[in-house]
Amino acid sequence: MKLIRISTLLVFLCAAVQLWAWGQTGHRVVGYVAQQHLSAKASKQVNQVLTKFSLEMSGNYMDFLRSDTNYRFMNSWHYVSIPDGMRYEDIIPNPKGDVISIIEQLIVELRTKKFKLVKDEEFAIMALVHLVGDIHQPLHVGLAEDKGGNDIKVKWFGEATNLHHVWDSEIIDNEQLSYEEWGKHVNRNIEKWQVKAWQSSTVRDWAQESQDLRKACYDFDENANLKYEYSFRHLKTVELRLEQAGVRLAGLLNSIYD
Ligand SMILES: [Zn+2]
Repeated sequence: MKLIRISTLLVFLCAAVQLWAWGQTGHRVVGYVAQQHLSAKASKQVNQVLTKFSLEMSGNYMDFLRSDTNYRFMNSWHYVSIPDGMRYEDIIPNPKGDVISIIEQLIVELRTKKFKLVKDEEFAIMALVHLVGDIHQPLHVGLAEDKGGNDIKVKWFGEATNLHHVWDSEIIDNEQLSYEEWGKHVNRNIEKWQVKAWQSSTVRDWAQESQDLRKACYDFDENANLKYEYSFRHLKTVELRLEQAGVRLAGLLNSIYD
């Protein structure tokens, strides 16, 4: 009986973890790409602060906390809901924080070394790695009415899932690459001018890009069984967003630590 209860709890926790976050691989790819674009000085300092995980692995920390009720207040940090045709400046922001306001605040706290959102510098970096990833997933700048695609039931190669999860994990996992293989793959073609252009944009620009991309995520029929064709159609977008997230994360960390 106890075993059943524990396994039920585990299923519940895993289900909770799946909401609102690139999957584990996606966050690691963002950390991997960022590591390639850090200056030597920033890399040394960042990796001194990170005692628990490497930059690649630290992005998963925010999702580990989701199973802990003490951290439930952070749930709204992973996303922002903006209706079609509106901008962030047009909405009343969530008073509990959203992915835009929290990233902006984390940057301030990392610059001033005064930590209010989270307990210390290490936690702030780990949160930044995670949330810069999240804001680049188009459905993290989602519509409130379907919870960023979480309420859109679809099949993925015949298995029941939802649209948000397809974008967090399924398209990435379908490639059957490790995060390092993924990281090398997406990092290989990034040009200097792209790094410069991507790093000169703002957090709100990143959210706007995701909002602009999200409509295309819905281009399938109701009760669709999504497969190779859907994956193939959107793979380039997934790759681009992981590249941009990694490069921009490095830009932020360079600006703070170099
Ligand atoms: Zn997340």
